[in-house]
Amino acid sequence: MTSVLHNVRTALDRIDKTDPQINAVLSTLKKESLKRANDLDAGGANGTLHGQTVAVKDNICTDVGATTCGSRILENFRAPYNAHVIDRLLDAGAVIVAKTNLDEFAMGSSTENSGFFTTRNPWDLERVAGGSSGGSVAAVATGMVPYALGSETGGSIRQPAAFCGVCGLKPTYGRVSRYGLVAFGSSLDQIGPVATDVPGLARLLGAIAGRDVRDSTSVDESVPDYLGRLDEPVGKVRIGIAAEYFGEGLDNETGKAVEAAIDVYKKLGAEVHEIHLPHSAYTIACYYIICTAEASSNLARFDGVRYGHRTANPQDYMDVYSSSREEGFGAEVKRRIMLGTYALSSGYYDAYYLKALKVRTLIKNDFVEAFKKCDVILSPTTPTPAFKLGEKSDPLAMYLADIYTCAANLAGTPAISIPCGFTESKLPIGLQLIAPHFAEDRLLQIAAAFQQATEYHQLRPPICATH
Ligand code: GLN
Repeated sequence: MTSVLHNVRTALDRIDKTDPQINAVLSTLKKESLKRANDLDAGGANGTLHGQTVAVKDNICTDVGATTCGSRILENFRAPYNAHVIDRLLDAGAVIVAKTNLDEFAMGSSTENSGFFTTRNPWDLERVAGGSSGGSVAAVATGMVPYALGSETGGSIRQPAAFCGVCGLKPTYGRVSRYGLVAFGSSLDQIGPVATDVPGLARLLGAIAGRDVRDSTSVDESVPDYLGRLDEPVGKVRIGIAAEYFGEGLDNETGKAVEAAIDVYKKLGAEVHEIHLPHSAYTIACYYIICTAEASSNLARFDGVRYGHRTANPQDYMDVYSSSREEGFGAEVKRRIMLGTYALSSGYYDAYYLKALKVRTLIKNDFVEAFKKCDVILSPTTPTPAFKLGEKSDPLAMYLADIYTCAANLAGTPAISIPCGFTESKLPIGLQLIAPHFAEDRLLQIAAAFQQATEYHQLRPPICATH
């Protein structure tokens, strides 16, 4: 077995060599990870992630190094404690080597909203890696690390995973503790794994899932042996296809690759059923009202008093708040705070926020109904492959990149993205599978069956060959 020190040195070395072109990493934990490697090597192997290197999205608190959330307002913030998932990773023997780039406070679909720099797509450096977990996904896609953690509020693991040709899972809301995840939209936020293949996701999810008393929304459901379940026969698979996810705006090559994936499942003996998600058209509007409303409240804590940046020469105490926020937050974060404050203000609350909550219930019910006919719902993860840097300057155009992913966040169901093909210009295409609440074990089994029959997940971007 290779030593942990070797693993850690390899990861740090790959980051040094590859990251200048990719910009996936905000900070490395060099000193800490080398020390931990020596400790682990001295202590013998135990734990499901013994000696494995992991990169962590920088909105997940670590008690070493910085936790910036990709925001200037938290540029110098040092979290005093570890998130629950970090302690769980350490218990499993993992080594956290880096904190990764993201759209500021996880608001975006391209990492172009990072307060520091933009992560590039490893398959085409002129294109976005996706977001908001673009750094975590690009770090795995380029082999800097085998594992990473991302977070989702509305597609932020699956969408970049699709763009960069890796696997990403959004667990059921409540499956993984949010303790120590900096809040964006608390009724939607969930931490999830990124890896190159489905067994990797299963291993990582097994380490982080489960009840934590510090997050009252984490559910007291036993955690299956996700990795062990992959060895069991997959049995009869019923796949649901919704016309709503194959309509206007779907790129031709993406549509074809997903059709081909359906054929792969058919060859494996799966049944395909037509299902309907009749409220899909309201997903984006509903998501962007709820997440901005919650963000406007959650981000009130960044006021220059307790956390992060404080303005240099305030006129009075009100100016401490307003100037610190004005200087510290980027444009998209300000836009969301304003949208969310408006949606919650008296007189508009019923018309926007309350109505969005009702629509959310309708969307959730669509899924409950659909799962009477199928085990998983299959769709493209994104309507198009990775777009060009700077291409989507209109916020609404950017929001529409989440059109197929956000519904699972609103409904709280688990969903995965796995590679299912490439465009002619060699951009990865993602296949999305959505499963009923707490059916991650079945979801992973069905996704693994696809990977046993195909090789897309084994292909690495050309940049990996040159480093
Ligand atoms: N694109 C979504 C947004 O901007 C992604 C958010 C997320 O999942 N963190 O809100």
